[in-house]
Amino acid sequence: MVERAFCMRCKQDVNVSNGKIVVMGNGRKRLSGICDIEGCEAKLSKIIA
Ligand SMILES: [Zn+2]
Repeated sequence: MVERAFCMRCKQDVNVSNGKIVVMGNGRKRLSGICDIEGCEAKLSKIIA
């Protein structure tokens, strides 16, 4: 399954590469990864739970 997230730099939904699930201090989960668009590689972050 490919995760999608909004990239601020590309201003569109993109595939997340190298995605990792990070559990925050309040117990919520965040997906952290890198924009899949060639030449962008902006950091992506999305709350998932
Ligand atoms: Zn991007």
